[in-house]
Amino acid sequence: MKVAVMGAGIGGLALAQGLLKVGVDVTVFERDPSPQYRKQGYRIHISPVGEEALAAMLPDAVRRRVIATATQPGDLVAGFDDQLNPQFEQVYPVAGPDAVTSVDRYAFRRALMTGLDDVLQFGKQFASYVETPDGVEIAFADGTSAVADVLVGADGVGSRVRGQLVPELDVLDIGVRCIYGKVPLTPAVRETAPEAFLRGFCFASNGSGLGAAFAPVVFREPPVEYGDYLMAVLTGTNPVLGASDDELFAMSPAELWAIVERSVADWHPTIRELVDAGEPGAAFPITLRTCIKVPSWSSSRVTLLGDAVHPMTPAAGAGANTALWDAARLTRALTSDKDLVTYQQEVIANSQPIVTESLHNAERMFKVSV
Ligand SMILES: Cc1cc2nc3c(=O)[nH]c(=O)nc-3n(C[C@H](O)[C@H](O)[C@H](O)COP(=O)(O)OP(=O)(O)OC[C@H]3O[C@@H](n4cnc5c(N)ncnc54)[C@H](O)[C@@H]3O)c2cc1C
Repeated sequence: MKVAVMGAGIGGLALAQGLLKVGVDVTVFERDPSPQYRKQGYRIHISPVGEEALAAMLPDAVRRRVIATATQPGDLVAGFDDQLNPQFEQVYPVAGPDAVTSVDRYAFRRALMTGLDDVLQFGKQFASYVETPDGVEIAFADGTSAVADVLVGADGVGSRVRGQLVPELDVLDIGVRCIYGKVPLTPAVRETAPEAFLRGFCFASNGSGLGAAFAPVVFREPPVEYGDYLMAVLTGTNPVLGASDDELFAMSPAELWAIVERSVADWHPTIRELVDAGEPGAAFPITLRTCIKVPSWSSSRVTLLGDAVHPMTPAAGAGANTALWDAARLTRALTSDKDLVTYQQEVIANSQPIVTESLHNAERMFKVSV
């Protein structure tokens, strides 16, 4: 069997590892021109669900790379108001030395690419497919084509594979924009940051829809490109951020960071100090999107995984973990007597409650109603 995976994101790469491990002929097609193309990392929480899926799919050498490049485990989720008065706190047991509880997105993807040199093709933007009695013919934007027995759309929230397979799915913009950034963890920043910001995920809010999340990314083994940092994300609607989408998405990273500085100008001095120490060149904007009902589809040769099938807000920290769960189930379906229809049913049953929870969390956190 020949499997073509569209998208070398978290789910697509994990699936390729799982299939390769059991000898399936798999090729991953990625639209980015190279693995180094986007170095913008951000912290992704890996839950026991994601960890279990990784353990099931990854060969030992790749799993060791993932563990080595993961971040040091945290033990806290906490909330504050904008003057840093504590609102809630949840402490977790500290995970063991081999545990993967959070990763930097770029470092994680690079680790998942270990040993995939012959499997990955960059600069290949999926355009369309045609199902034939013998398989699937795939067309790329550069005019080239490929054939496979099974096509997997692992091409993320804006999936073109889904666009053709399930054109009726509405992906909703929930109206919240994030300005994502990094504060390098210099000795001065470590000194300034509240202890909680160095222990886990912290969310500060002014109670009127403006929020700022902070979480440490302290590598076990940093990528060559950058070192430890504090993830810093400002969240709000366009009116709260004081910029329309046309303005926001045309801004330079430095202009975006200036919005963050302006937004927290009357917040606690420690937060202002941390933002002032940010890396202005690292800022970028993100639109938060979700589906409401996870779709079903009818094809025996084309299927979907991850954000392509169940786009969700990041407010439950579950998108990547669910993509990994899908990849593990799909590896099993493609290498056992389970079929793609069973896989699809499993994906819908598993992801629908998570999509709903992520949306409810986002509505509460960001004070929006979808
Ligand atoms: C700020 C933020 C924080 C988050 N935090 C968490 C967290 O803590 N925990 C968690 O579980 N999840 C988190 N998520 C969600 C998580 O990042 C996604 O759910 C996850 O990346 C989905 O994986 P995927 O493989 O489905 O898609 P992606 O990782 O998005 O990969 C899709 C890939 O497909 C490629 N592609 C797209 N179109 C094409 C095309 N036409 N042809 C070829 N290739 C294409 C893209 O370039 C990309 O490489 C967060 C998301 C954001 C934005």
